[in-house]
Amino acid sequence: MSKNKRILVKFSGEALAGGNGFGIDSHILKYIAGEIKSLVNSDIEVGIVIGGGNIIRGVSAAQGGIIKRTSGDHMGMLATVINAIAMREALEHSGLDVRVQSAIKMEAICETFITGRAQRHLEKKRVVIFAAGTGNPFFTTDTAATLRAIEINADMIIKATKVNGVYDKDPMKFNDAKLLNELSYERAMEDNIKVMDDTAIALAKDNALPIVVCNMFEDGNLLKIANGDYTNCSIVKNL
Ligand code: UDP
Repeated sequence: MSKNKRILVKFSGEALAGGNGFGIDSHILKYIAGEIKSLVNSDIEVGIVIGGGNIIRGVSAAQGGIIKRTSGDHMGMLATVINAIAMREALEHSGLDVRVQSAIKMEAICETFITGRAQRHLEKKRVVIFAAGTGNPFFTTDTAATLRAIEINADMIIKATKVNGVYDKDPMKFNDAKLLNELSYERAMEDNIKVMDDTAIALAKDNALPIVVCNMFEDGNLLKIANGDYTNCSIVKNL
C-alpha cells in the first residue's frame, strides 16, 4: 500500500457556481484545479467529491408535488456527475491524470466505482472524482464523501467551503463569533453548528476520520492542511 498522504476533498455544488448561484463558473474550476495540482505535485493522493446543489437538489425538485423525492434525488445524483465531468476537464487541462468513478453505472461516460480500482488510480497519482453520491436516494454528498474517504483509507476529509471553518455562532450575524479550531464529533452535530448532516458525522466518528472545514478560496490552504497545519480552519476529531 502507498505511504503517501491521501485526502478526500469535498466541494459543494454551489462552490462551482461562483457569483451566479447556478451552473458552473470556469474561473472557479480553473482555480480549484490549481489547488488540486499543488497537492498532487507534493505527492498527496487526492480523491474529490462534488455536490450537485448548483444544479438541483432532490428536496427542492420534489417541492412542487409532481416529482417524487426518490426521482428528485436521482436528478440530484446526476447533477453531481455533470459537475464531476466539468472538474475532470479542468484538472486534465492543468495536466493532471484524472478518473471519474460513478456510484451509478454509466459506462459511456465514466468508470463505475470500485474501491480497489480507485485505490490503484490514487497510487498512480491519478485524481479520482467520485460521482453520483452514494448511488442511493435520501443521502447527501457529504455522506458520500465521508463514505468514500473511509473506503479509500483517506487520512482526512477536507470540506472546502466559502468560510474559514466552524464558528460558535453565525459570523454573518455576530461580530464576536469565534472560530472553533478543534471540536468533537458530538459538538459538530449540534444544531447551531451542523458541520455536515448527522449521517456523515456519525460515519466519520465511527471510523475516527478527521473532518477539516476550511476556506477553499485562500490560496494554498488545501496543501497547508494536508501537511498538518490546521491554523485558521476547524478540525473535527475525537477529543
Ligand atoms: N443525492 C442523493 N444521494 C446521495 C448524494 C446526493 O440522492 O448519496 C442527491 C440529493 O438529492 C442531493 C443532491 O444529490 O440533494 C445533490 O447533493 P448535495 O445536496 O449533497 O449537494 P451539495 O449541497 O454539496 O451541493
